[in-house]
Amino acid sequence: FGGGRSDREIVPSKGKPPVTPESVVNLDHGDPTLYEEFWHGTGDRATIVIPGWQTMSYFSDLRGFCWFVEPGFEREVRRLHRLVGNAVVDGYYFVAGTGSTQLFQAALYALSPAADGTPMSVVSPAPYYSSYPSVTNFLSSALYRWEGDANKFNGDTCIELVCSPNNPDGGIRKAVIKSNSGKTIHDFAYNWPQYTPITEAASHDIMLFTVSKCTGHAGTRLGWALVKDVEVAQKMVKFMELNTIGVSKDSQLRAAKILKAVCDGYELSPAKEANRLFHFAQRKMAERWSKLRATVAASGIFSLPDEVSGYCTFAKEIVTANPPFAWLRCHKDGVQDLEAFLRENKIVTRGGPKFGVDEKVVRVSMLDTDDAFNMFIGRIASIK
Ligand code: PMP
Repeated sequence: FGGGRSDREIVPSKGKPPVTPESVVNLDHGDPTLYEEFWHGTGDRATIVIPGWQTMSYFSDLRGFCWFVEPGFEREVRRLHRLVGNAVVDGYYFVAGTGSTQLFQAALYALSPAADGTPMSVVSPAPYYSSYPSVTNFLSSALYRWEGDANKFNGDTCIELVCSPNNPDGGIRKAVIKSNSGKTIHDFAYNWPQYTPITEAASHDIMLFTVSKCTGHAGTRLGWALVKDVEVAQKMVKFMELNTIGVSKDSQLRAAKILKAVCDGYELSPAKEANRLFHFAQRKMAERWSKLRATVAASGIFSLPDEVSGYCTFAKEIVTANPPFAWLRCHKDGVQDLEAFLRENKIVTRGGPKFGVDEKVVRVSMLDTDDAFNMFIGRIASIK
């Protein structure tokens, strides 16, 4: 042994490089760095230390429904849903995943193939989240295959992905396929009060959530599924066993501490924004949306989906929705490919075709740092 430098500190990576006035501003991904400011302010309340001897076993809870779920993580998730009121948890099975991306695949596995053994069709109304087609098809599975826009589907049976609020356009969605044999997966990555008024405790068959967009801890790679049917939940657990032999315990413990800090911020400490994640994020998002709407209105060449508002049972007042992405359309003569046009203006976005629609619209992340967002606003304002 030896030879290495034992005095060198291990420091975490910093993520994307900061933007400078000359650099390209990259708002292609929904990298939720907006939340760093909040977590800077919570100090030790959201910090965990894991000694070298801990979390070594593969197993978490052999007596629970799912052997790789950390009970503390499940407990804080259920507590959070009860606090926010966005999903029913009683009577639901709980499955953890490496991001909701893994759970999405586990759900496809659990619901496939079709009854006659042929690949199950997977659909979602356009514009749909760009990962749905790529993640569904990348292994060319014989169990399921992507069939595109749910509104154009005319087969017998399918899995419909219902993303609400919708990535990319922020729309509030219900399933569109009306078939008795059809199945749904509700992707609730953004069904949190900073993005949308909470109107009901949802109670669908499979509901997917992620810490990535709830608290901003995308790097923790942790999501969860609430599943009504025990057999479907068991198949999802089986997928996790085959795919990654469970889910990082370290991540679950960290997420449990983070979610505990969120719940404590509402239930224990005095009501101040420094402790209230959803209020912090709602205010930040609302500020950004009003800046963006003013800039777009002044530009004369861009447009956005209309603002929507509604009564939020969590905030107990009427609130305006603040979607996580701006779905920006361009009406300037001669601009066919908006993604390419914005790239020439040093703004990286994701173009409509990746979401199953035309090239004159792009998706722009609203969740990045203040610097990146302000740079984006400045550049949009200067395009004539
Ligand atoms: N669903 C939607 C709609 C998303 O936007 C994202 C992240 N961009 C995910 C799922 C996946 O999130 P993660 O794997 O980080 O949990």
